[in-house]
Amino acid sequence: MAVLSFMAINFYLLFSYSKVSAAADTITSSQNLTDGKTLISKNGSFELGFFSPGQSNNRYMGMWYKNIPVQTIVWVANRQKPIKDLSGLLLIDSSTGNLVLSQNKTVVWAATLKRKAQNPVLQLLDSGNLVLREANDENSENFLWQSFDYPSDTLLPGMKLGKDFRNCLDRQVTAWKNQYDPSPGNLTWAMKVNSYPEPLMWQGSKKVFRSGPWNGVQYSGKPTFRPHPIFDFRYFNDGNEVYYMILLVNKSKIARMTVNQTTNSQHHLVWLEAKQRWDRLASVPRDFCDSYGACGPNGNCNIKRVPSCECLRGFKSKSPERWNALDYSEGCVRNKLLNCKNDGFVKYIGMKVPDTTNSWLNERMTRNECREECLNNCSCMAYTNSDIRDGGSGCVMWFDDLNDLRVQPDAGQDLYVRVPASELENNDGLKWKIGVILGSASVIISAMLVVLCYRCRSRKNLKADGAMLGYTSEEQKEDLDLPFFDLSKITTATNNFSMDNKLGEGGFGPVYKGKLGDGQEIAVKRLSRSSGQGLNEFKNEVILIAKLQHRNLVKLLGCCIQDEEKLLVYEYMPNKSLDSFIFDQTQRRLLVWSRRHDIICGIARGLLYLHQDSRLRIIHRDIKASNVLLDSEMNPKISDFGLARAFGGDQSAANTEIVVGTYGYMAPEYAMDGNFSTKSDVFSFGILLLEIVTGKKNSGFYCPNDSLNLIEYAWNLWREERPLELIDEYIEENCNLSEVHRCIHISLLCLEQHPQDRPSMSSVVVMLGSDAVLPQLRQPGFFIGEHLHGESSSPFKNSTTSVNGLSNTVPEAR
Ligand code: AMP
Repeated sequence: MAVLSFMAINFYLLFSYSKVSAAADTITSSQNLTDGKTLISKNGSFELGFFSPGQSNNRYMGMWYKNIPVQTIVWVANRQKPIKDLSGLLLIDSSTGNLVLSQNKTVVWAATLKRKAQNPVLQLLDSGNLVLREANDENSENFLWQSFDYPSDTLLPGMKLGKDFRNCLDRQVTAWKNQYDPSPGNLTWAMKVNSYPEPLMWQGSKKVFRSGPWNGVQYSGKPTFRPHPIFDFRYFNDGNEVYYMILLVNKSKIARMTVNQTTNSQHHLVWLEAKQRWDRLASVPRDFCDSYGACGPNGNCNIKRVPSCECLRGFKSKSPERWNALDYSEGCVRNKLLNCKNDGFVKYIGMKVPDTTNSWLNERMTRNECREECLNNCSCMAYTNSDIRDGGSGCVMWFDDLNDLRVQPDAGQDLYVRVPASELENNDGLKWKIGVILGSASVIISAMLVVLCYRCRSRKNLKADGAMLGYTSEEQKEDLDLPFFDLSKITTATNNFSMDNKLGEGGFGPVYKGKLGDGQEIAVKRLSRSSGQGLNEFKNEVILIAKLQHRNLVKLLGCCIQDEEKLLVYEYMPNKSLDSFIFDQTQRRLLVWSRRHDIICGIARGLLYLHQDSRLRIIHRDIKASNVLLDSEMNPKISDFGLARAFGGDQSAANTEIVVGTYGYMAPEYAMDGNFSTKSDVFSFGILLLEIVTGKKNSGFYCPNDSLNLIEYAWNLWREERPLELIDEYIEENCNLSEVHRCIHISLLCLEQHPQDRPSMSSVVVMLGSDAVLPQLRQPGFFIGEHLHGESSSPFKNSTTSVNGLSNTVPEAR
């Protein structure tokens, strides 16, 4: 409503508006629509005007079918703000060109325009789409606003259910509270976007029904007539838009889809002319097995059986007592732990595939490649083809528990569930419905070879790194050349680690401010005692940072290992971390462009030192805004070397089985394959650079509730030659635009998909400090539909990640 309050409507002009004439489909900026008047689409299909639902006296601006006798409201403007009398007025505000609904000169609803209007008109189209467009431009691509982008409880043919990332639209359908109250209830039908999008029905934040993802033919959990007599179903995903749409097979029919809070269902309805009533073609959820997660994790629901729930093969009920009492909520757990190398797959035919939240999609892989990839990845729990046409293509893999499975012979598809080989030997007579497939001998052998190679390689790396860092020997201490602090000194300095002294908390524990006896201020990182993790990271950080000296790296003053305590003592950074500035509504105003540019250059120089100029080649692996500290003069200092890896000689890349770091900042090849190098740090720097310019976090910044990344948004604007729209509004005014443009260009170079296409940090430092022409951009990494997106979990390797900004880590041998 804040937006509304700012809208200056020239009410004094109101009285100069003329009322719309009867049966018009359009109003211009000099006309208005009063209560009692309506707009009617050209062919008489739809009507727009004020109405009161049922016995309610409230007035709403809405749309209904003109040509059927049962008033059926398909769209409402002021769902949450009813007008209490007949003073409602719909008009195009002459000062802003916006569409506004008012009551006694107070705005109750306003459209959200894509851009400022010049000479707008409002038109009700025969499709039921109310559009605001320029008077001389009927191109639907150029509409300034359209009701189809803001559905109420109904999806009309031609409307999209899903997301438009470029225009930040999330078109979802929400039930009326009840038949007299069109305000949004808590039943929503929306497209859930992850690597394999699928439409979902929610009751508040609880999933209630999943139709399953599109498999090239239909939704795997929602059987339909084929061919359907009324609807033609469409699914579209090009990375910029993901949506589901219905179209009419026969345009003379009247049909719609809607969600109803009273029935808690989604209905497909068709108007029966002969009977003069709506007929339900289909409704979901249909039965017990349709209710989300009916049989719990790893449980399979078969409505034809009594009881309907059974555990997947190789699994048993987690709580037999509850299970036998028909409480399936805890689902099933494995009989035997997976072996990884010697596992195989059980094939289920005709399945609604599991919830795709923890899935990964690659549309180019074959089924065999998919099986191999799944077998090679110990975290992969199941796989299938993403497209079942022509014998099947594409690969979807699931990680973690398999949720919301059901037998769905008329819509489902084959699903291959991972089990230990020993489970496959035990044929219990379920063959009639379960086809068991063992990975062919060649697949197993090659998988074992791959695993063996990995092992050998990581052991080699481990040894090399260990030797280089003097990892376990007593030499460590001697080599450290670093003061050891007495525990009592630090306890006194930090006021016994009092909460008042706490500065923040990282992945390995809290950080406290302290003051030494000589007045020197320090920051003390206290390795969390409760976590079994972090000892290696602690040693690593001490050993690494003790050898580093650079004005853009935080300075380690000493450490303390005494009793149970492991402490790192740093110089104190009074301005804390960069994220507390760039993502804070108040603080970000302090970071004017020139300061941000200095910070960017400082971080780049710090990284260059790590990659090239220090005694060891160091890959930081966790470059992010919260790991850049600011001193009293706002000089940036890279901190937190807990995850860093050091290389000697010419080595500049390695592979790890355990991916550590923070998603949203991880390079695709690292998140997916565990390959890290100086170029994976460059990628993280690219994200950080973009965040500093935009003032927005990479993850979850764009459309609320989405885990979309900033890269895609930036890249789209770049391609459309509108990169400057990225700039943080607080630096817009007095910034050097060519410098900002250059920084955006450099950040996108750092975000190239392939590491070899990214510049080195030395090139970045040169590019930041010169006016030389910059290389052309290709395609940045992390695009939807192709690879990992945003902060979703890594499908590859044993990933440990962060979704809250804390690096989530496990000890890793170095
Ligand atoms: P870390 O565990 O290094 O990620 O640190 C966690 C948080 O503690 C940081 O985000 C900072 O807010 C704060 N912090 C860490 N080191 C220092 C320091 N040297 N001076 C001031 N604050 C610090």
